[in-house]
Amino acid sequence: AKKSAQESMETPMMKQYQAIKDQYPDAFLFYRIGDFYELFNDDAVKGSQLLELTLTARNHNSADPIPMCGVPHHAVQNYIDILVDHGEKVAICEQMEDPTLAKGMVKREVIQLVTPGTRMETGVTGAKVNNYLAGFTKQAAGFGFAYADVSTGELQTANLTTFDAVLNEVMAVEAKEIVVDDTIDDALRAQFKPLGILVSTQTDITTSAELSFLTQDLTDHAETAAVSMLLSYMEGTQKRNLSHLQRAIAYEPSYFLKMDHYAKRNLELATNIRTGKKSGTLLWLLDETKTAMGGRLLKQWLDRPLLSVEAINARQDKVAELLEHYFERSNLQDELVKVYDLERLAGRVAFGNVNGRDLIQLKTSLKQVPKIKYVLEELNQTVFGDLLKGLDPVDDVADLIERAVDDEPPISVTDGGVIKDGYDQQLDAYRDAMKNGKQWIAELEAKERKETGISTLKIGYNRVFGYYIEVTKANLSKLPEDRYERKQTLTNAERFSTPELKEKETLILEAQEKSTALEYQLFNKIREVVKAAIGRLQRLAKVVASLDVLQSFAVVSENYRFVRPQLTTDHDLEIEAGRHPVVEKVLGKQEYVPNDVRMDDDTTVLLITGPNMSGKSTYMRQLALTVIMAQMGCFVPAKSAVMPVFDQIFTRIGAADDLISGNSTFMVEMQEANDALMHATANSLLLFDEIGRGTATYDGMALAQAIIEYVHDHVHAKTLFSTHYHELTDLEDSLTTLKNIHVGAVEENGQLVFLHQIQPGPADKSYGIHVAKLAGMPTDLLTRAANILQELEAHAGETPTPVNVDAPLQEAVDATPKATPTEQLALFDVPSGDPKMAAVIDELKQMNL
Ligand code: ADP
Repeated sequence: AKKSAQESMETPMMKQYQAIKDQYPDAFLFYRIGDFYELFNDDAVKGSQLLELTLTARNHNSADPIPMCGVPHHAVQNYIDILVDHGEKVAICEQMEDPTLAKGMVKREVIQLVTPGTRMETGVTGAKVNNYLAGFTKQAAGFGFAYADVSTGELQTANLTTFDAVLNEVMAVEAKEIVVDDTIDDALRAQFKPLGILVSTQTDITTSAELSFLTQDLTDHAETAAVSMLLSYMEGTQKRNLSHLQRAIAYEPSYFLKMDHYAKRNLELATNIRTGKKSGTLLWLLDETKTAMGGRLLKQWLDRPLLSVEAINARQDKVAELLEHYFERSNLQDELVKVYDLERLAGRVAFGNVNGRDLIQLKTSLKQVPKIKYVLEELNQTVFGDLLKGLDPVDDVADLIERAVDDEPPISVTDGGVIKDGYDQQLDAYRDAMKNGKQWIAELEAKERKETGISTLKIGYNRVFGYYIEVTKANLSKLPEDRYERKQTLTNAERFSTPELKEKETLILEAQEKSTALEYQLFNKIREVVKAAIGRLQRLAKVVASLDVLQSFAVVSENYRFVRPQLTTDHDLEIEAGRHPVVEKVLGKQEYVPNDVRMDDDTTVLLITGPNMSGKSTYMRQLALTVIMAQMGCFVPAKSAVMPVFDQIFTRIGAADDLISGNSTFMVEMQEANDALMHATANSLLLFDEIGRGTATYDGMALAQAIIEYVHDHVHAKTLFSTHYHELTDLEDSLTTLKNIHVGAVEENGQLVFLHQIQPGPADKSYGIHVAKLAGMPTDLLTRAANILQELEAHAGETPTPVNVDAPLQEAVDATPKATPTEQLALFDVPSGDPKMAAVIDELKQMNL
């Protein structure tokens, strides 16, 4: 008789399964049964696809069997990683008692919920990348925002006024998962979906007593709320010691050079727009770090360039010093290479999953510290004194590991072989007993051979039968009757024991058992000592990471001939022979044409004209990257550079798709431009690349001109504006601090050659026709084009009817001059008088869009 699914689910085990699964509805439940983790029902169906496992069923014979798949326990980490990489959560449910001893159902519990934002194991590829969990909550005073890296223990928080600011921070730290509470509605949560960021909810805010000190330094209620929420989530999912978490640090985004995520994306600071990878980005170019910690810190510095001239200078001084001292720098690099990831090691120590090999890595790393100190002592102490002071070699820990832990310990910490001889007397005694026992057994073997005359007689050991004397069948007759007690029969041999052997066996096995148990105890004690030093290790890690980033700056500055920029407090900017470091690296330095940038209070807007592909946008990006590098404390790609400290960079470059809201390109363009106009100050840098291109010609040109005028008259930010609208170059006459520049190109032997050279004044306006000529178009056609151009220009000279933006829509539509050659259909450019069309427009207007 076939059982129904209902019945199958009612076995005691499936009831237990379901009860646990109900607590983790949004996670894959890995349910331990013996040597396997099993998935059931929907988890099994979905899991078998994602993990490429065979889908089977429990209760094959029932009418409606339960779908099931499983993974072997020793390979479980792999499978967990795959699911978490997919943005899923995995609840690991273990057997909490020995199944052979359990009365009734084996007790099971979820011991950890692994989520994308709370991973400890990040693999080799993730070494230089932080894995952040972010969280935010709506409070009276704006949004409390916090983020943490469970693997390194970093914890930061900020009070942010707008949701956009939250979004910016989330994107900046590339959070893998977000935690929110009930103050955040579905509409806001939904914003993270297109970004592929998992949103989890934490309403129950209970932080354990041990972690309450983490919020001690915070004074802001919203920040405290956000951090507490995050801590509750981390404790609730990890269910273990998180004592490596560091006190929450409150930061103020406005203390750093501000760039929104569009700007970072457009400028390809850390992600290549085309490939989504690091290669071809500024981070890629700057990264000559030797340690994982340095790699992560470099990314953090890139995300938050400084505003304080003093702080920037302090970094620059160090880069300069390292640049000058090649020998010391190269020694420093040699030592840094041997430093492992102290931050993540410290995290694993707290988490309790550190093994002997980790401790050896820790020791090796700590042993480098005195050598690093030695190198720094050779350098200028006014420059390096502060870092030198922070270099605590934590030698008590290093010495302890040196004395206690074997240099090549096994992976397992429970099977012995981890602790060195001579570290613990009792352990040495057990080991002696074992060793003597083995020696004695070897002697016994020799003795037995001699006495019996069986040269092939041997003494062996296996787990089930213990020690035995083995004699081949052929030799059995030679064995005396007495003493030998039969233990096991094999095809070709018999195995025996003797009272003597038994006695020694007990001693040896006891010693072995006691010795491994004692080793594990000793190891745990060492682990506790290391745990007590986590704070010191983390502080050391920070100093090492800084040193690493600074030497990386020195290396790239040398390799790519960067110079130290001089930062001023006025508005003068003078870059001589500046380069775009990434384009230059890709093209090779022979190919790249350096360009100057000069701006001051009398030149705030540079209007750049020139043909496509001549280098306008490269020139603009080059300036932005130079500013960012300078404010990170790095040297810059130029012959010389004097520059003010910028407070914000706004960009409107290229056709960035808007991943978040799915807005049209033109809408994004207007939003970005608006953002710049609203928030930029006289200390900001604005890059506008062909604003207005996304709409009808006149429409776009009008907007472009109005934007330039607005920036010029009200914002006073340093602005680079590239355009195709040649008409705009006339603005130089009316706007006092606007200057025309253009990118030159020449005809050489009938070939068009881009000089990539910035020159004063506007570009030649009939440029397109020149290009067409070079392309070999018929002379008639070219003459015709020249005539049309003339006509159009004459037409453009007429003053168009002014448009009143406050007038009702239809009036505005009627008043808009009809541009014939449109690049893109304008929204309201509809043949008037068509009744069907009018009806459609009416209907559209009625709609609440
Ligand atoms: P535009 O914005 O004018 O269309 P880009 O700035 O995109 O042009 O530049 C087009 C290409 O020209 C770049 O990909 C680069 O290969 C090359 N280029 C730009 N600037 C330079 C330069 N200063 N020196 C050498 N090549 C350059």
